[in-house]
Amino acid sequence: MPLTLPDLLIPKAYIDGQWRDAERRFAVTNPATGETLADVPDLDADDARAAVASAEAAWPAWRKRSAKERSSLLRRWYELIVAHGDDLARLMTLEQGKPLAEAKGEVGYGASFVEYYAEEAKRVAGETLPSHGVDKRILVFREPIGVVAAITPWNFPLAMITRKCAPALAAGCPVVIKPAEATPLTALALAKLAEDAGFPAGVLNVVTASRPAEIGEVLTTDPRVRKVSFTGSTPVGKKLLAQCAGTVKKASMELGGNAPFIVFDDADLDAAVEGAIASKFRNSGQTCVCTNRLLVQAGIYDAFLEKLAKRVNELKVGNGLDDGVVQGPLINPAAVDKVQAHIGDALGKGARLVCGGEPHALGGTFFQPTVLADVTDAMQVAREETFGPLAPVFSFETDEQAIAMANATEFGLAAYFYARDYKRIWHVMEGLEYGMVAVNEGLLSTELAPFGGVKESGLGREGSRHGLDEYTELKYVCVGGL
Ligand code: NAD
Repeated sequence: MPLTLPDLLIPKAYIDGQWRDAERRFAVTNPATGETLADVPDLDADDARAAVASAEAAWPAWRKRSAKERSSLLRRWYELIVAHGDDLARLMTLEQGKPLAEAKGEVGYGASFVEYYAEEAKRVAGETLPSHGVDKRILVFREPIGVVAAITPWNFPLAMITRKCAPALAAGCPVVIKPAEATPLTALALAKLAEDAGFPAGVLNVVTASRPAEIGEVLTTDPRVRKVSFTGSTPVGKKLLAQCAGTVKKASMELGGNAPFIVFDDADLDAAVEGAIASKFRNSGQTCVCTNRLLVQAGIYDAFLEKLAKRVNELKVGNGLDDGVVQGPLINPAAVDKVQAHIGDALGKGARLVCGGEPHALGGTFFQPTVLADVTDAMQVAREETFGPLAPVFSFETDEQAIAMANATEFGLAAYFYARDYKRIWHVMEGLEYGMVAVNEGLLSTELAPFGGVKESGLGREGSRHGLDEYTELKYVCVGGL
C-alpha cells in the first residue's frame, strides 16, 4: 500500500534507525500561506555527535556489504521514491512553495541519482598499473572514504539530498544529513523511505535544527567525519571549508552562481526566449544555475526584449498547488528584500523597468516576474546572485565583449548561450570559464553529467561516474618480493 501524505509528513529526526523527538522544536511553514505545517525537533551539538557516532558504528558493516547488496537497497529506495512521488511532490510544494509540476519534476530528477548510483555501485573499481620493477606489482584499491556529512539547501529539498547520499551510500559510506531549516520535512520523508527500503540503522541519519552553525561546527570538526558535502551559498561554504581545514577533511562545495545567458544575433530568438524563461524563472529564480544576467547582442536587443517581456507577462503567479501556476512564492521575506534591493539599485543607476518590479498583489512573499533593460556593470545585479524572479538585460556588441562580460565574476557555475554559427559556438564554448555550459538549451541538469562549478562556485562534481570519486579514496598497495 503506498503511503499517504500524512504518513510521509514525519515531524521527527532520524538517528541510528530511531525516530527522535526533542523538547525544543521549530516550526516549518508553508511560504504560500504562512501556515505552520509541522514542528520538528530542534537538535543540538550533542545530537549531531550522536548521529556521527551512529554513522561511524554502522560503517564497518556497511562497507563490507557486497556492492550488489548496496545496489539492491538503493534500487529499492529509488522504487519507493518513485512510488510515493505524488506525496513527496506535494510535501515539497507545501514546505518550499514551488509549483506542483516542478516539484514532481524534482522527484524524478532526485530519484534519477538513486537509480544511477544503484547501477554504479557495482562499478566502483580499482586497477592494476604497470610496476616500477619486475619483482613488484602496483594495485590500486578504491575504498569508501567513511562518514559523510551532507549539508543541503532549501531550494531543491529532495534532489540535493539524493545527489549526495546516493553516491555516498553506493561507495560504502554512511551519511549524516543536515537539511535546511526551511525544508526538513522532505528530508525526513526520504529517510522514512530509506528505512522502508531496508537500509540498516545508522547508515542514513537526518539531524533537523534551526541553528545550523551549531550542527555545522560538529560536522566540520569531528574527526570521525571524513567528508563534508555542502550545497548552499558561497559565504557559508567558505566558512565550512575553513572549519574543515582543522581535520583536513575532504570537502565538496556546490555554491552560488552568477550565470550569464548570452543571446547572439544569429540565434533562434523564440528558442532563446523559451530557454531564458526556463532558466530564469524556474523555482521563482531560486536555482543555483538560474540565469542571473541576460547578455543580448545590440542588433537584436529590442526584438528579444519585446518577446521576453510578452512571455514574462504570461507567467501565472500563485500557490504552487493551484492549476496553471508557474511561479510560487519566494522562500522568505529576506529573499523578497534582496530582489527589491537589486531592482532599486538598478533603477537608481539608470536601468529601465520593462515589466513587474513590485511585490505581487497576492501579498506574502509573492513577487512579480520582472524584466529590467539597459542594465550595466555598475549595478549590483552584475555581480551578485539575485536568487529571485528578476531578469536584468545587458547589451553587448562583439563576441569577445560577451565572453569578457560573462567571465567578469568570481563565480563559475553555469553559463548559457544561443547562437547558430558553428565557429562562434566553438569559440564561445571554449572561452567561457564555467563548470557547465549550455548551448541552445535552457536546462542542463541531469544525473548523467558532472554538475559543479569553478572559481568561487565550488569544488567537486555531483552526478555521473565522477560523482562517486567524491566519496572514495585511492589506496595504493605495492606488492614486492615476487
Ligand atoms: P545557505 O548557505 O544559507 O544554507 C545552505 C545550508 O547550509 C542549509 O542547510 C543551512 O542550514 C546551512 N547553514 C547555514 N549556515 C550554516 C553554518 N554557519 N554552518 C553550517 N551550516 C550552515 O544557502 P541557501 O539559502 O539554503 O541556498 C541558496 C544558495 O545555495 C544559493 O547561493 C545557491 O546558489 C546555492 N545552491 C548551489 C547549488 C549548487 O549545486 N552549486 C545548488 C543549490 C543551491
